[in-house]
Amino acid sequence: MEEIRADGITKRFGEVTALKNVSLKIASGELFFLLGGSGCGKTTLLRCIAGLETPTEGRVFFGDRDVTELPTHKREAAMVFQSYALWPHMTVGQNIAFGLEERKVEKKEIKRRVEEALAMVKLEGYAKRGIDQMSGGQQQRVSLARALVVRPKCLLLDEPLSNLDAQLRLEMRAEIRRIVKENNLTGVYVTHDQAEALSMADRMAVMDAGEIVQVGPPEEIYRQPCSSYVAGFIGETNLIKGTAGEGNLVETAVASLRGTPGVESFQAVNGSPVVLSIRPEAIDIVNPAGVALTGKIIDRIYLGSIIQYTVELADGSVMQVTEQNPKIIRSPGEELVGLQVAPEDVTLLER
Ligand code: ATP
Repeated sequence: MEEIRADGITKRFGEVTALKNVSLKIASGELFFLLGGSGCGKTTLLRCIAGLETPTEGRVFFGDRDVTELPTHKREAAMVFQSYALWPHMTVGQNIAFGLEERKVEKKEIKRRVEEALAMVKLEGYAKRGIDQMSGGQQQRVSLARALVVRPKCLLLDEPLSNLDAQLRLEMRAEIRRIVKENNLTGVYVTHDQAEALSMADRMAVMDAGEIVQVGPPEEIYRQPCSSYVAGFIGETNLIKGTAGEGNLVETAVASLRGTPGVESFQAVNGSPVVLSIRPEAIDIVNPAGVALTGKIIDRIYLGSIIQYTVELADGSVMQVTEQNPKIIRSPGEELVGLQVAPEDVTLLER
């Protein structure tokens, strides 16, 4: 395991600047996620870390080593791709052995290490099978084994689960985390799937337009987003525009609501435009008497363990509200309902 450090990385592809002076430190043994909208630069950053792309400016360090100019295999990093990138005409064992043969490892040792890698991904005894006889999930395990067999210090994963069905994705989340932790690897993982990131990451970076906008553990990114972009990107949220008043009181088109700054350092200047982020699960539907925020239920989706309501407010805007373990199923209609939310669940953000 090794610390990974990106120092002022800029990457330009002709006119396009994919990364703008990105700096990042990933601790040794950490499973770190890169997240962000399409085209924000997360794959380019991963590829710069992997050695598949050379930064236009800036350096990449693995521990104390400056690896900026080193090819992938000399970085002691291994990459796992969404497409698996396996050779279909070879056996499982041959696919896994390939990297060791290239490194001129002795035949007997190769056999031993292939078995060891197969055991790590729980595919003992599959070495002689053809790749085309393996399911999608098994193929992804083979591609993990192929990465692990070279005993890397860093494991770099580019949307490794995107081609799997929902059930397998869930299983593999836990598997990949186990593999990274058991082998003391430093893992860097790119995904579009926020649930994958929230459930697996030690820490994550949210990127926007070639820059890192926030870094932190999942619960911090979820509960204390630094901007409406981050709040909207990680999890579902209701965003309400308003104007800051005294003591974090915000005047919105529908009510005055007391909020809590997303980041401690943010102090809304009186009269400045702000936005409030309220998670659907933070809102309780209550009797409307004496409640600042009221509306009418215009839609509901019952999902067994939760129910999702769409509530229209007085100004015509809508809010999403979810209730866990719903005991009362409310119907859409003209009746007013109150929406209650604690000030600590109303995140105050810069607009
Ligand atoms: P996605 O989630 O859609 O894969 P991403 O966040 O991984 O997106 P990148 O693939 O890193 O984004 O791309 C960042 C920007 O750099 C995009 O504008 C993309 O079009 C551009 N880009 C990436 N690779 C190249 C390339 N080889 N040549 C030219 N432009 C590129």
